[in-house]
Amino acid sequence: MKAQYSYLKDQFKNSDKIFKGIKKLLKNPQFTFGKELEVFEKRFAKFVGAKYALGVGSGTDALKLSLKAVGVKPGDEVITTSQTFIATVGAIVEIGAKPVFVDVYEEFTMSCESLLRALSEKTKAILPVHYSGNPAYMERIMNIALFNGNIPIVEDACCAIDARIEGKHVGTFGAAGAFSLHPLKNLNVWGDGGMVVTDREDIYEQIKLLRNHGLKDRDTVEIFGHNSRLDTIQAIVGNYLLSQVKEITNKRIANAKYFDNQLAKLSQIKIPFRAHDVRHVYHMYMIYAQHRDDLLKFLNDKNIEAKIHYPTPVHLQPASKKLGLNIDPYSAKNEELWLIETDRQCKNLISLPVHQHLTKYQLKYIVESIKEFYAGKIS
Ligand SMILES: *Cc1c(COP(=O)(O)O)cnc(C)c1O
Repeated sequence: MKAQYSYLKDQFKNSDKIFKGIKKLLKNPQFTFGKELEVFEKRFAKFVGAKYALGVGSGTDALKLSLKAVGVKPGDEVITTSQTFIATVGAIVEIGAKPVFVDVYEEFTMSCESLLRALSEKTKAILPVHYSGNPAYMERIMNIALFNGNIPIVEDACCAIDARIEGKHVGTFGAAGAFSLHPLKNLNVWGDGGMVVTDREDIYEQIKLLRNHGLKDRDTVEIFGHNSRLDTIQAIVGNYLLSQVKEITNKRIANAKYFDNQLAKLSQIKIPFRAHDVRHVYHMYMIYAQHRDDLLKFLNDKNIEAKIHYPTPVHLQPASKKLGLNIDPYSAKNEELWLIETDRQCKNLISLPVHQHLTKYQLKYIVESIKEFYAGKIS
């Protein structure tokens, strides 16, 4: 038996409906800003409960354009976590701003205590990440932002479609929310794509300009912008899959619950804290494991595609070193800046396949294999 991480071959086995949509597009080929994009944006906005949604080229672009739209300028500081995919931080750097890293809780999201310590005069945005599909503590983060000069919040919801806090969708708490439609996200298209959601008309208007060269109309450039659009073909795929996203996330949540129940019995495994008023959508299923690296190898040898997300935190990457962002626990003067929990997580977390196409036999095989590994460790 095997359990692979990618499921795209299964997911798109039968795509007749998508091909039909694409064929229809060819009769009236509007490959950018086609009618299907408008439909997708409207449905996406409705799904998350936001006033506006705008298709862009990627989740990274969604972050970049949102940061610009809330007024972040070169040299400004943006507070985020190092426990994230590199793109969160790349987006900040690419617009000339300076990332300031804060630590995370056991459940991978921004520590509010760490955030409070990192605030400065130069803080021009806070960028919490709903990492792995687990919602950050938005109410507390919003209070901190509000009582420290009403700092704008941009949410990195790139891997968190359908994740909610007491029923309210992530990405709709801050000034803007960024989503990714990358092939391996829970809502995916056939290539790169992203979405920005907001309730604010000024942000909506600004991003509408920014994503299309700053063009107000065909002949007027209002501001210099980017070329970052969601293609009409991708909108056709997105429209088709948006109807399935609830089902997809429900399946992933059920798989994660099964793992939680089974693996909690093992003393060598620690399940992270699960808040019960949130809907965690398990873009990744990550747990703490003793002898993590040996377990990874053991599972990979048994054709289970477990992974490490990510062995090196962003703040210790060579790219961060070059910018002087590197926070080395052994050399940083200010103890408060240490990212102790982030470093610990990178050494101990393992990700298991949790996707919607896993069978109950595969799920069981993964659990049994982990048990087998630890049984061998004891004897
Ligand atoms: C995937 C992801 C991104 C980037 O999205 P792309 O569409 O690949 O640009 C950013 N942040 C997080 C947390 C992600 O998981």
